[in-house]
Amino acid sequence: MMTKIHDTADTPQWQRLAGAAIGGGEARMTRHQITRVRHETRRRTLTVDRIEDVTPGMRRIHFTCADLADFASAGFDDHVKMFIPGPVAPGERGMMRDFTPRRFDQAAGTIAIDYALHDAGPAVAWAIAARPGDSLEIGGPRGSAIIADDFDWYWFIGDATALPAIGRRLEELRDGVPAVSFVLVDSPAEAQEIVTQTDWTPHWVVRSGSDDAANLIAATADVPLPRGDGFIWIAAEAGVARAVRTAIEARGHPRAWLKASGYWQRGDEGVHVKIED
Ligand SMILES: Cc1cc2nc3c(=O)[nH]c(=O)nc-3n(C[C@H](O)[C@H](O)[C@H](O)COP(=O)(O)OP(=O)(O)OC[C@H]3O[C@@H](n4cnc5c(N)ncnc54)[C@H](O)[C@@H]3O)c2cc1C
Repeated sequence: MMTKIHDTADTPQWQRLAGAAIGGGEARMTRHQITRVRHETRRRTLTVDRIEDVTPGMRRIHFTCADLADFASAGFDDHVKMFIPGPVAPGERGMMRDFTPRRFDQAAGTIAIDYALHDAGPAVAWAIAARPGDSLEIGGPRGSAIIADDFDWYWFIGDATALPAIGRRLEELRDGVPAVSFVLVDSPAEAQEIVTQTDWTPHWVVRSGSDDAANLIAATADVPLPRGDGFIWIAAEAGVARAVRTAIEARGHPRAWLKASGYWQRGDEGVHVKIED
């Protein structure tokens, strides 16, 4: 079941601004509309079917699920809660981490999640150790923000954790629309082939030194912002996402057409930061 919502009190600031920026009323209903959809949430059990290493640092796990017929994920940057398998104390919910449904097919009962491998953390440790037949539970997505595919161009900026959402969006955007991605990676081997009908220009920004924000800001600074209305989507470590957003805004891009999120936070576990101030 889906519930559509436009500009409610709990609509994030970037979505309210997007409505205001284009004059509201009828225009908002037809141009650059951002629609929030809520989904009924429940837990589903996934079983590992096969494991694919898309690149050395990105593991795609293909799951089957007997209960996927009414799974809803309308937004490319939706997330599911992954419940980390393991003992849970009575009354506790256990550990949860957020992941993007990279691909899913309700009729076939299949779903894939891409795990950006890193050194610490139970979610990624589970993905590294996973074998066909293993199972885990997910919840959600609780809701989606559907960004209209009527902008003149799109930019995507992020690190490996953003790549599943970026890949999903590149696969669904309309034919020929200019799309540029700037993705911070550990090595050139992390460049992914993504099949897209967009006019896609990928920039694989190989990490140099310890200042990830500086790497991404330098890469984007070399590229002029295109003319026309564009939507810029950013997701990375929280401090990095915030710094990149500030740099993009300083170039005059309207905040209304900018969405930035911290997909993790250095030194903290399981953090999701919505950057709206
Ligand atoms: C909406 C949303 C969607 C997301 N989608 C995806 C996705 O599809 N694929 C994906 O791989 N990730 C995704 N992430 C990021 C993922 O949820 C985090 O990286 C998460 O912290 C991983 O859990 P963990 O148990 O492995 O590590 P945690 O226990 O959360 O963290 C352990 C330590 O590792 C650090 N850490 C966490 N992530 C990273 C990282 N990527 N690189 C280096 N250090 C890190 C933490 O700061 C902490 O110090 C998403 C996050 C959000 C909010």
